[in-house]
Order: sequence, then C-alpha cells, then structure tokens
Amino acid sequence: MSRHYSLTFCFLICLLTLYSCTTNELSKESNDDIQLIIDRLSLEEKVGQMTNLTLTTLKSEKSNDTIFLLDSIKLRNVLVDHHIGSIQNVEGRAYTLDTWREIVTTIQKITLEESSHKIPSLYCIDAVHGTNYTIGSTLFPQNIGLAATRDEQLVKRCGAITAMETRASGIRYNFSTVLDVGRQPLWPRFNETFGEDPFMCSALGTASIKGLEGNDLSSPSQVASCMKHFLGYAVPRNGKDRSSTYIPDIELHEYFVPPFRSGINAGSSTLMVNSGDINGIPVHASKELLTDLLRGKLGFEGVVISDWQDVLKLVNRHHVAKDHKEAVYQSVTAGIDMCIVPFDFAFYDDLILLVKEGRIPESRIDESVRRILHLKKKLGLFEMPYLEKEAVANFGKPEYQETALEAAEASMTLLKNSNRILPLKKDAKVFVTGPLSASRTALHGGWSYTWQGQKEDYFDVRTLNVMQAFEQSRQPLTKTPQNADAIVVCIGEEAYAETPGNITDLTLDQSQLDLVNALSKHGKPIVLVLIEGRPRIINAIEPLADGILMAYWPGSKGADAIVNTLTGKNNPSGKLPFTYPRHVNELITYDHKPLDIAFEVADPYSYEFKFSPQYEFGHGLSYTNITYSNLTLDRDTLFETDTMTISITLNNPNSIPQIASLDLFTSDLVASIAPPVKRLRGFKTIKLESGEKRTIHFQLTAADLSFINKDLERVTEEGDFNISIAGYEKRFYYKTN
Ligand code: BGC
Repeated sequence: MSRHYSLTFCFLICLLTLYSCTTNELSKESNDDIQLIIDRLSLEEKVGQMTNLTLTTLKSEKSNDTIFLLDSIKLRNVLVDHHIGSIQNVEGRAYTLDTWREIVTTIQKITLEESSHKIPSLYCIDAVHGTNYTIGSTLFPQNIGLAATRDEQLVKRCGAITAMETRASGIRYNFSTVLDVGRQPLWPRFNETFGEDPFMCSALGTASIKGLEGNDLSSPSQVASCMKHFLGYAVPRNGKDRSSTYIPDIELHEYFVPPFRSGINAGSSTLMVNSGDINGIPVHASKELLTDLLRGKLGFEGVVISDWQDVLKLVNRHHVAKDHKEAVYQSVTAGIDMCIVPFDFAFYDDLILLVKEGRIPESRIDESVRRILHLKKKLGLFEMPYLEKEAVANFGKPEYQETALEAAEASMTLLKNSNRILPLKKDAKVFVTGPLSASRTALHGGWSYTWQGQKEDYFDVRTLNVMQAFEQSRQPLTKTPQNADAIVVCIGEEAYAETPGNITDLTLDQSQLDLVNALSKHGKPIVLVLIEGRPRIINAIEPLADGILMAYWPGSKGADAIVNTLTGKNNPSGKLPFTYPRHVNELITYDHKPLDIAFEVADPYSYEFKFSPQYEFGHGLSYTNITYSNLTLDRDTLFETDTMTISITLNNPNSIPQIASLDLFTSDLVASIAPPVKRLRGFKTIKLESGEKRTIHFQLTAADLSFINKDLERVTEEGDFNISIAGYEKRFYYKTN
C-alpha cells in the first residue's frame, strides 16, 4: 500500500465512519462528508464514477476457456487513467469463488493504491435466481415459479441466501429484483417476473428486495438490490425482447408503476432503466419518467443505472440521437446516474466534453456522483473495501439446498389430475421420457452459470435431472412405454435468456406435440411435466394427458421437487401466477375488462361473456382438499378511514399436513371507467397440520380498492364491491366519509 494511499484513504475512512449512516436516507451528515469528497474530485474522476464497464475490458489475452486472467495494462488504463468506478459481469461463464475473489481484490487493490481518487470500486453482477455466476452456488426457482408459492417469507429467504452467496464471492451489488409485470407471455423474460398481477409483483418483489438488502447494507451478508427495468418493459407489442411498447398513461400508472413504488418504499438502493421505448419515447431519454415521475412523484433517491449499452442504442436502435454525444446528453439530462457502457470510454469522453462545453452543468454530475458515493458508503466499501472474512463463511451452507428444495416444491403447480393418476402408485411402473427429462439446463433456465444457461458442464454434480431423480426414488421404472402403468413426459422449453428466447409462436414446438401424440397411441395414462419459462400453448395435447404438472424453471432442486411431487412425497400447493392461455390469439389476463371477453350472439344486442383460458390465474390442485367456510366481513359498509377485516375458516380433514394458498380478489361493480372483472388485493400461504382448523384474516382499506381514473388520479369511488376468496363471495358498500 503506497503512503499516498494510506493517508488519503485513512482520511476518507475517518470522515465516513465518523458520520456512519446505516439507513437508506441521505442524512445531512452523510451528505456533508460525501460532499467533501466530491469537492476534491476532478471532473474526470467524477465522470469515472458514473461509468460502468464490463469485465471483458480487463481481460488478458492469456485467458482461455477455463482460466480468466486480468491484464495489468488494461487494469491501469481503466481504473487509474480513466478513473472507472465500477465493473460488472462475467466473461462468458460463472467463476469459482477463488477466481472471483482474485478478480475483485485485484480491481480493488489497484483502484485504492494507484488511482488518484482512492474511492473503492463497486463490483456488480446479475444474481437473479441465486448467485448464478458463482460455481457451486444455490439456484432457486426463477421468479415465475417463486410467485406460484405465494409465500413472501420464502421469497425473502431466497433473496437473503442470494445476498450471502453473492457477498461471499466478493460482490456487493446485484442487478435484481425484476419488478416488470408479466402481462405478455411471449416476452422471453416472462420467467423473470412474478407474474401478471401488479399487486403480486409488488409484494413478492418487495420481499425479494428485503431479503437482498436487509436492514444494513454494510453487513457482510447483504447486497444492494436493483429494481428493474423501469418502466413498461414487459409488454412489447411484438412480444420480442427490448422492443417498443405502447402503453396509455392510465395503464402505465395502474399496472406498471405500483411495483416500483413498493420497491422504492421498501428501500431498494438502485434502479435499472428499460431498454425499450414507450409510445415512441426511449425510456433512457425520458426526463418525464426518469426525473419527473421517478424522482419527483415516487421520491426515489438512489442510483439510476442504464441497461447494457443503452445510451449508444439511442443512436443506433432508437434513432433519437444523431450521434453518441447527443445520446449521452439526452440520457444524463433525462436522469441516469451511471451508464453500463460497457466496452469503451465513449460515455466518459463525451460526458466530459459536454460539461466542458457548458451543455451539462457540473452540478448535474455532482448529483449523480453523490448518489453513487452514498451507495458505496452504505455498502461499507469505505470501511472495508476488500472481501470480508464473515462474508466468506456464508457460502454454500447445506441449509441453502433445503431452502432451494422447499421453494421448488412449493412452486409445483398441479394443473390437471384426472382419474387421480397422481400421485403415482408406489408399485406403478413408470416410463420417463421427453426431451427435457435428461436436461439439467432446462430445470434452471437462463442466468444459470452462463447467461443463456445452456452449458451442462457448469452444474454441480449434486444437481440431478428428472431421470436421475426418478432413478434415485423408489418408483419402479421401465424402459418401454408398452410395459408402463404411466408415462411421464417432460416437455417445455430449454434454457434461454433475453433476446435469444424470442419466439414467433407461443405454441409448444411441433416435435414435442408429435411426441405426446405418438406416446398416447400406447393407451397408457400420460402425465405431462411442463418445464418452461412461459406458458406454451398445449391445447392440442392437453386432452391426451391425465396429469399435468407445471414445474416452471425450478432450479437446483427442481428434479427432486418434480419427482417428490409426482410420487406423492410433496403434496402440491402452487398456484398459477398468470393466466395459462388456451389459444395463441387470446392472451387475456385474469383482470380483463368485461368487453375483453364479450361477443355478440345472433341477436345483435345480446352478448355472451366467455373467458376460457387453458387454466385460470390462481389455478392449482392438491392431492388432498382443504375445506373453506364462514367467509365473513366485519362490516357491511367500509368508510374511507376504516380498515375492514375479512375472515375465512380453513379445515384440513386429511391425514397429512397441507399448504393452502389463498388469493383475495375484489370487484368494483360500477365505476367511472369500465372496471376490470376483478383485482387481486391480497394473498396468503398457510400450512395446516392434519386435522387442523384455522380462521385466517385479511385486512382491506380504501387504498386497496383504488384505481387510476381518467384524470390519472388514484381514487376509490363510492359504491358496491364484491370480495371473493376460494370461490366464496360477499358484497359490501364503500362510502366516502
Ligand atoms: C439486461 C439486464 C442485466 C444487464 C447486465 C442486460 O442485457 O437487460 O437485466 O442486468 O444486461 O447483465
């Protein structure tokens, strides 16, 4: 450590520990000490903090497929000469813990010892369903599967384990949680969402953020989270990734803003911007969204980071900027704090020029640098910039595997069970087949040890595929369908992430449909296991199957969870977090308006309403039944300032424990704009012991009944409402005081 470093750095530490601030608020003291640092930084050093490059820019030519090496000249060029303050991502694949520690430590050491500013570097990674870029980490179900569990505490625990394994890798900033609302099932990132409902995305997204961030980001077991992708990314008109959306303001505020509002209130430290455009305006260039809405109305104080290369894309994809410098001007003026460039110094060079030319005031740069330094401070980087001993101990604990199994099992969603084909009888001979029965990659989906998740070799040997899990079970297996008592067919989607997952047809591939057709000729009962990141249309084969289990992309313990469910060791309790469509041209969400499903019958003034998806939102069977009774409301009229308590009694008359998941919906019967048929306003997951009877309660206030009106205000209008839970319904009146 050079003398210059130790003196300046000690000075920084003294300043920052003196005013240590562990809340997410920017306290005055914290502002003051960060301002002292900003005051002594050059323009170049400040812009370096706003610039984020990918690890490839530091890669030595001596690296090969198995070894990643850093290049000392590139390191100095990036970290010292250009003052770059944060680095992200992997070169192609996951690394061992040792490699990570070496990478992050080297970057930190050079930054602290050789840069002029001595501000610790921040490493960033996508750890989106576990610490997916560290070999040996625990991978959980993708968010879409987690949403089927309806279990906020479980989602929070998965987030907390992800935080620990990420920080143990030496990394303190995670580009997760996805708060996009999955209302377009063609979209290849549907699996990264918590489903089609904004309330569910808000609740489970918040749980994930709390798991990642905890109460104190300086703790060696937490990481900064990133709410992404603000705003309106998930509903591309063409169904393809990173493309145009057309969203009326009324829908933007009704469906897409709420999860971000909740994430901000939960204290998420950063936010990533949507790569697409809304109504023709690229979000990266939208001051209206990134400043007026995000900072002004939603009160976000954290760091706003661009998505990958998206400033450049204002020139070459969106065509709203004539050159790169203009693109930098537009995006920084709109409100981004940090740019994932990620390969060169173009953002750095152009931003410096724009300030020198007087087009962007240096005070605007200071604003972003202040937010970035505050994040680094909250993460404890000034106090302890290197790998923490306590963090190291948190990697790969056996109990994480148990949580992965618990989450995968809780996500299993039984869609069909005719003739009680499931659970498989103990002595039933089972023929296991299908393209995904021998695949570990398909159980994990994208972002699994590689970006696309398609490299079998990187998976831990403990991770089984479905065939192996069956072989380890006690189920008699047969190698020929002719001898089988049941045929289990694993079909769906192999792993993909982002654009490579684009499709032109939501129908399941013809070859897989043909396979199920051919198998049906044996006249044996068929059980389909759907291993997929989005609902692929199966109406042609659904009648051929007695049993259908939706497994989503269930992660490291996915095969065990599937086999445990098929054999009855796990009593399924998952509920669909989206509407499973029956037809490619009928992609209608559960919270549709009456006209979405209305059609005129012979008499022109007479309508029929028909909603017949393959499976409804919230659908999911179990092997045993819970009975529900006594749905009661504690009042007939809810006043503006009241809280209503809704109760329902659950009874488990069976000889085994059972998890029950309940969705609570409300319907606004008459409103100033056509109301949706129903909206999810609450959900709960309860474990009932055998023979247990329990009354559970939900609470509802006026705010829970609100919607965005034609003037874009959130209002609750007086009138009749219905409440429904588990098929039971009650009416009440809402009255403004
Ligand atoms: C994705 C982001 C991700 C980023 C960094 C982009 O392609 O859209 O979700 O965080 O890459 O890997």
